[in-house]
Amino acid sequence: MTTAPEAENPRAVPEKGGPAPRHANQEVFDRLAARISVRPGTRPMAEVVAPFTGRLLRQVPLCTPDDVAFAVRRAREAQKEWAARSFSQRAKVFLRYHDLVLARQEEGLDIIQLESGKARNHAFEEIADNAIIARHYARHAEGYLKPRRRKGALPLLTVTRELHHPLGVVGIVAPWNYPLSMAVTDAAAALMAGNAVVLKPDLQTPFSALWGLALLEEAGLAPGLFQVVTGRGRELGGPLIEGADYVCFTGSTATGRTIARQAGERLIGCSLELGGKNPMLVFSDADLGKATHGAVRGCFANTGQLCISIERLYVQAKVFDEFLARFQKLTGKLELGASFDYAHDMGSMSSKDQLDKLVKHIQDAVEKGATVVAGGKARPDLGPYFHEPTILTGVTDQMLVSREETFGPLVSVYRFETEEEAIRLANATPYGLNASVWTRDVGRGVRVASAIEAGTVNVNEAYAATWASVDAPMGGFKDSGIGRRHGAAGILKYTAAQTVSVQRLMPLSAPPGVEEARYSALMTRALKMLSHIPGVR
Ligand code: NAD
Repeated sequence: MTTAPEAENPRAVPEKGGPAPRHANQEVFDRLAARISVRPGTRPMAEVVAPFTGRLLRQVPLCTPDDVAFAVRRAREAQKEWAARSFSQRAKVFLRYHDLVLARQEEGLDIIQLESGKARNHAFEEIADNAIIARHYARHAEGYLKPRRRKGALPLLTVTRELHHPLGVVGIVAPWNYPLSMAVTDAAAALMAGNAVVLKPDLQTPFSALWGLALLEEAGLAPGLFQVVTGRGRELGGPLIEGADYVCFTGSTATGRTIARQAGERLIGCSLELGGKNPMLVFSDADLGKATHGAVRGCFANTGQLCISIERLYVQAKVFDEFLARFQKLTGKLELGASFDYAHDMGSMSSKDQLDKLVKHIQDAVEKGATVVAGGKARPDLGPYFHEPTILTGVTDQMLVSREETFGPLVSVYRFETEEEAIRLANATPYGLNASVWTRDVGRGVRVASAIEAGTVNVNEAYAATWASVDAPMGGFKDSGIGRRHGAAGILKYTAAQTVSVQRLMPLSAPPGVEEARYSALMTRALKMLSHIPGVR
């Protein structure tokens, strides 16, 4: 990505010399760019490039800290009226959005593919995810957040309720790998809780988020409530955290630490979903047909640019050779290419940086003695950032790929003997985002899962079962982050919990005329008695 002086006529969506999308044209990109929260005046521009071709898609402004402050102010204004709406009024917007995102998916799929370079099947995951999350929080936000009776200090005499208030303005910093999902689904939970949102999408992929915003406003979201600023993370992150009441971040562990420090300075909450070096364990009793298909999906979905994808694959010795042969064969059959239909299984890497990191990890491993058993080569014949899905064996601790997240279509396959060894190897990483366990013995699957230090563990699936169980929390252990998305945790984090207690008849202190010493003795006796009554806290 390079910056350029503001152009009068930004370049068109690539139509010649590259694959042509049928549903998103230049006019769509111009319309979406007009939604960026930028104050009047000239801004330097950044180029958004289509990874399939390496050509300019459209320029977007590099917003300034002032633009961010302005966006936060406008969002805060709009939030007051939105917070006063009932849950069912807010839900109507998200149920309409659910229908719109499915109905207009062809346009959305083109936009996602154009700016991320992914295959259409993986772009569809984002459409489905948006619909599922919008429906989930539309239907369940009230249940998660409505006032609840809690046990009072004194039975019958203290009536206590737990309330949840919106925080105000939620700042969201989103990555490029799932540019619609990561931008809009976290926003959906924040908005359903009664907040406004200011989003900073990645500069490589702002248009998917802007498309989601356009559909939300068409569905009835009040203008101003959801603002999008485009620019460099290191320049806009600070001002966003300065103005927001909470920050939700998805991206690298290094940036996550910076965000956590800044949020800490302001004493605002943050949730961070960060990197992973996710393991998959295949036990000898596993259905090897299903396990190999699961491994292909788990390792190469979205060209491996998926925080929950598999980069370390441990196979029990007894079935190692058979599994590897099947996995190698299936990987070799994956169709790579750039097309705006479902003709290809795998698309392009998102950028030169990602491709370079992948190539570096493979070269380093090969130089230190690893064997490439599938793939291994870049495919410039298909597009500037294409690379084959790649399997390595013989990987040792000295190799970068053994510990660093590649975030690409690269997996190392290792052998293990016992369950204890498999668990130890799975946990031998500073990360703890996702894991996958394959066995016909469900009891063992659940036992092993609970011993793995990861926020989600899929038994006989790679990543989709936990991700799509949107009623349950999703997030990382260890260096993979703090906080959760999805379920109750994914919306409660956007609220301030308040406890309101009404005290009746007698106070929680010595009544008038009763000496403190006598009151303490009475209380001591009462507390001792209560501890013998089952069910009393
Ligand atoms: P990154 O963490 O730098 O970028 C993610 C987002 O954070 C982008 O929107 C970026 O503009 C923003 N950002 C960057 N610096 C910031 C700052 N100081 N303050 C606020 N926001 C800031 O990640 P990257 O450089 O795009 O990718 C590097 C690596 O991160 C990848 O190779 C991969 O390992 C990991 N990654 C993980 C995820 C995930 O889903 N967990 C997503 C993207 C990248």
